[in-house]
Amino acid sequence: MDLKKYIAIVPDWPKPGIQFKDITPLMNDGKAFRYATEQIVQYARNKKIDIVVGPEARGFIIGCPVAYELGVGFAPVRKEGKLPRETIKVEYDLEYGKGVLTIHKDAIQPGQRVLIIDDLLATGGTIGATIKLVEQLGGIVAGCAFLIELTYLEGRKKLEGYDVLTLMEF
Ligand code: 5GP
Repeated sequence: MDLKKYIAIVPDWPKPGIQFKDITPLMNDGKAFRYATEQIVQYARNKKIDIVVGPEARGFIIGCPVAYELGVGFAPVRKEGKLPRETIKVEYDLEYGKGVLTIHKDAIQPGQRVLIIDDLLATGGTIGATIKLVEQLGGIVAGCAFLIELTYLEGRKKLEGYDVLTLMEF
């Protein structure tokens, strides 16, 4: 299935010069959404995944159906101040300034094999911070899966040594 058909490219959003890749048409189509989910599930099947981790908010949308299909749990990574219990946090660079991502301290047990899922790999800042959170809790990053990779931003360089799947490249 040609998944790219289901990605809407929105010029100059959220600001001039950005060509935003909107995944909502893909989510809107049951067959395409299921197909994309199944591609990631197949990739993960032989990796003995214990838990899926996804950053807010689109990492939840893709991560949860994959976790369900694998029969494992899902742990959310969120911006600071959103998770209600004890968390650990990691700072990472944004285009302007710093971002902070957090995860519940008890979300991952040491030695658990983790699949990290997000909708899109751009500079790799978000996934890099998510990997740090997982590893600080003693998790093993067994794989990272994305619907979309923006190859020109070279986020893969931050993922050297990790097992990575992307379903579409722009
Ligand atoms: P990075 O941290 O790799 O630079 O950016 C990736 C993060 O920003 C992901 O969590 C993703 O949801 C969001 N993001 C950045 N650009 C886009 C885009 O064009 N489309 C979508 N859907 N998400 C984006």
